[in-house]
Amino acid sequence: MEKKQRFSLAIQIFIALALGILVGILLQGKGDFTKAYIQPIGTIYINLLKFMVVPIVLFSIIDGTISLGDIRRVGSIGWKTFVYYMATTAIAVVIGIVFATLFKGFFPLLQTAGLKYEAKSANFMEVIVAMFPKNILEPLLKADMLPLILMALLIGVGILLSGEDGKRVGKGVKSIYTVVMKMMEIIIRLTPIGVFCLMTNVIAINGATIVSSLGIVLGVAYLGYFTHIVIVYGLSVHLFAKISLMKFLRGMMPAMTTAFTTSSSNATLPLTIQCSNDLGADPSVSSFVLPLGATINMDGTAIYMGVNCLFIAACYGVNLTIPQLISVVLTAVLASIGTAGVSGAGMIMLAMVLTSVNLPVEGIALIAGIDRLFDMGRTTLNITGDATAALAVSQWDRAAKAKKAKKAN
Ligand code: ASP
Repeated sequence: MEKKQRFSLAIQIFIALALGILVGILLQGKGDFTKAYIQPIGTIYINLLKFMVVPIVLFSIIDGTISLGDIRRVGSIGWKTFVYYMATTAIAVVIGIVFATLFKGFFPLLQTAGLKYEAKSANFMEVIVAMFPKNILEPLLKADMLPLILMALLIGVGILLSGEDGKRVGKGVKSIYTVVMKMMEIIIRLTPIGVFCLMTNVIAINGATIVSSLGIVLGVAYLGYFTHIVIVYGLSVHLFAKISLMKFLRGMMPAMTTAFTTSSSNATLPLTIQCSNDLGADPSVSSFVLPLGATINMDGTAIYMGVNCLFIAACYGVNLTIPQLISVVLTAVLASIGTAGVSGAGMIMLAMVLTSVNLPVEGIALIAGIDRLFDMGRTTLNITGDATAALAVSQWDRAAKAKKAKKAN
């Protein structure tokens, strides 16, 4: 019964997406209308998802840490996850750079004189310092993900190390987490409505721009996104989760469509958790790996940075050297860690990558108008990558446990 309902939700979301595109095309040029009357309903849906993010991240990470049972397991899973995330992100930037290099000759060379772009804070050390919470309420109130994750980890580890008292608190956390997941299920049922409204507005506003001059740059980014899914995720789910890419993508559909329309990994987190668990991820692993991934693992954002760095360089008539390209890879990996899982964050962090190779950050203004269209694809990739990690790490963890049990016998 349960399965059948899920399946129909996925189909409903897909129909909503298609209808949204259709209605968006019909409403081309009526962006004012869609913005005033259709987008707000989508915003309500996003708000409801965002409303769940803090309790989900907080309780899933505390619960995930406690469920891992001992500190060594937290450490071992933490390291595996981190290495997986960084390696796939580095491959993603390289894919972005390779495609941008191949298609560079087709990029429109837009006028750069008179561009203005106000770069927001994109200093790496500031990002690191901001990770550490200085007050217990601030991360909760501001939904600041990295400090929130660190706080939750610390609480989880504290509970694990506190013996009987810790066990009692842990039981309470588990019960609260169950309630939070139920609330999340209720909101997830509204996804088709949210997806329809968000999609209609995006297409009504941006539809015409897609075919204009920046279409080719957008196309290159999407080619990169697609390649990364087929090669990296295809291999990962085949090798580690032992399922086919098709099965994986089918299972991930509700989360991927939500990411595509909301452009926010954080807002999509509830669905990413649900889909990954349905696909066989160990809930104690995924409740630890996925909130972390929504915050630090951004493969789509990395591809976007690679492509746009080369595009902006081309517009300024700059040819990046190999050492500069290596610097792009390294900074893009770091920048993607610092990118918040919210709509538009990747564009702000692009400033950091441009600065690393002395390109003017004003170049961002060239793509700012259609950033949302890049963002939809990169967010979809971001959360899909997180799910492959949840499946892979679950599998490694199961194998490690089986080995340990064998040794014990
Ligand atoms: N919107 C993306 C996300 O939430 C981040 C970005 O802007 O690249 O994953």
